[in-house]
Amino acid sequence: MKKTPTRLTLAELQRHAGLTRTFADIDEGAEPTLRDLTESLVFSPGDGRIWLNDQRMLLWRASTFGTLRRELISSTGQEQARSLLTRVGYSAGASDAELVRRTWPESDPANAFHAGPRMHKLEGIVRPETISFEFDIARGDFFADYWWHDSSEDDEHIAAFGIGSEPACWMQVGYASGYASAFMGKMVIYREVACRSSGAEVCRIVGRPADQWDNPEQDLHYFAPDASAMQIRKSFVAKPSGTHREPARSPLTQDASSIATSKLVGISSSFSAARHLCERVASTQATVLFTGPSGAGKELFAQTLHSISPRANGPFVAVNCAAIPDTLVESELFGVEKGAFTGALVSRPGRFERAQGGTLFLDEIAQLSFVAQGKLLRALQERRIERVGGTREIAVDVRVVAATNLDLRHEVERGRFREDLFFRLNVFPISLPPLKERRDDIPLLMDVFLRRYAEQHARPVPGFTPRAVQALLQYEFPGNIRELQNLVERGVIMVGPNESIDVHHMFRGGEVHPTSMLSLNEGGRLVHSVVGTTDVPARKGIQRKDEASGPSVSGKEIAMYRNALASNRYNVAETARQLNLSRAQLAYRLKRHGLL
Ligand code: ZN
Repeated sequence: MKKTPTRLTLAELQRHAGLTRTFADIDEGAEPTLRDLTESLVFSPGDGRIWLNDQRMLLWRASTFGTLRRELISSTGQEQARSLLTRVGYSAGASDAELVRRTWPESDPANAFHAGPRMHKLEGIVRPETISFEFDIARGDFFADYWWHDSSEDDEHIAAFGIGSEPACWMQVGYASGYASAFMGKMVIYREVACRSSGAEVCRIVGRPADQWDNPEQDLHYFAPDASAMQIRKSFVAKPSGTHREPARSPLTQDASSIATSKLVGISSSFSAARHLCERVASTQATVLFTGPSGAGKELFAQTLHSISPRANGPFVAVNCAAIPDTLVESELFGVEKGAFTGALVSRPGRFERAQGGTLFLDEIAQLSFVAQGKLLRALQERRIERVGGTREIAVDVRVVAATNLDLRHEVERGRFREDLFFRLNVFPISLPPLKERRDDIPLLMDVFLRRYAEQHARPVPGFTPRAVQALLQYEFPGNIRELQNLVERGVIMVGPNESIDVHHMFRGGEVHPTSMLSLNEGGRLVHSVVGTTDVPARKGIQRKDEASGPSVSGKEIAMYRNALASNRYNVAETARQLNLSRAQLAYRLKRHGLL
């Protein structure tokens, strides 16, 4: 049985084909080519991650997708499953369009568009072939017609359900629509006019703006969130009176906290756990102890905790205990009475009193002197303080939030920190992970800092080069978020007009080391990729002598050494053996080419 649903008449197709200049196949053309995209795909097995530029990718079996798809269809029904998969595909397509725009901002629009079908191909989903394609962003015109060979979604659909009467490349159609819509800035709908799942030999899709299709509702229906979910959302936000005068409101606490915590950037599980704990404890009076390495964002977390707490309208007072000399720390925290010691000419309140009704943030708490620790303990227990040289007790209503990059338990064992104070502070510990343990957040943070510093320094910067992204993704970040922030700011300052930030704009030597990142070579095999300062081409004016004398020979030689090194896992002795050189000879040549 062979049945091909034709929603677009042949005459229509021919009319369009006549109008259309047929573009070169998607394998050809300027950047981002399939090769450029391939180079953005990096495997980092040591981290358990695969990256496509700055997006984390998954390598999973097509049959696993098939199982998920089949389960969806049987549990929610064909219409719901189709709608869900279409929307998932749409969001993936829109994200890929955004990624292409960000990474290759200079590329020719037609080629930039082809990156979508190329990405589909690179990801192993389907092999598109252009029949015809034309667009005009200014006029809002768009027409695309593709063959889809070897659709993976069809393979899975046919394996589960056999040949039926409906097309089945739902997620792929969603992807193509999402990609084209993001690209055009208006809703573009693809229809699968022929599909292997309904008996055609090869799938074929046609895309046009929604307003140029007859009955676009039949497609748009799949792009909208399903009706039952809408129903649930409505009942959740509906006012009890049932009137529609005021806009619906979500529960207040949820709203307030999600807006305030939006300053905290991250999606990684360890980060989300910390953020969740922060939201849980904010509404209470509990003392909170943030732990984690310097630069991990402890103060930002403490500020956020304050801003979503009932004390948000009170003051937030931060004290870095390591920055105050031992002799001054007491008067700084608890205030001083006139005449308490030589030089105390006037009475003045300490930070505790200044934080009245609000939050006192004590950073680097482990640095407090033993005497100050005792006073702090008393303040926490009795909610009263005494100024230095004072006789009266002052009641304080202050929530204490502390932070340390040391292991306080360890400090207690060593006799450097009071055990009773430790237990007072450790009521609700929240641990903030180092940045290298939350690599999934790096792309988000890069984006936030890029926008912040581009604005602050009035330097519009389109983005990062794929090489810079790779370097940041594999960097260890001993200085955590603060270091990433500094690198991005340095990049924004160093980069030329309309240039993307590259490795040498951020790293000034020594910081990046080759690690076990793998990328695809031309033959499609995984090879070690080196990203680092040595990989940076010599800039104008500082070209090395040997390169100036014969750059092409030298370039080939460098590539040869680099490949040989990679295939020997950077073991110089083994590489030398393979090249029939002594270790010293090879080391000398590698140094000369800046490879060692
Ligand atoms: Zn199909």
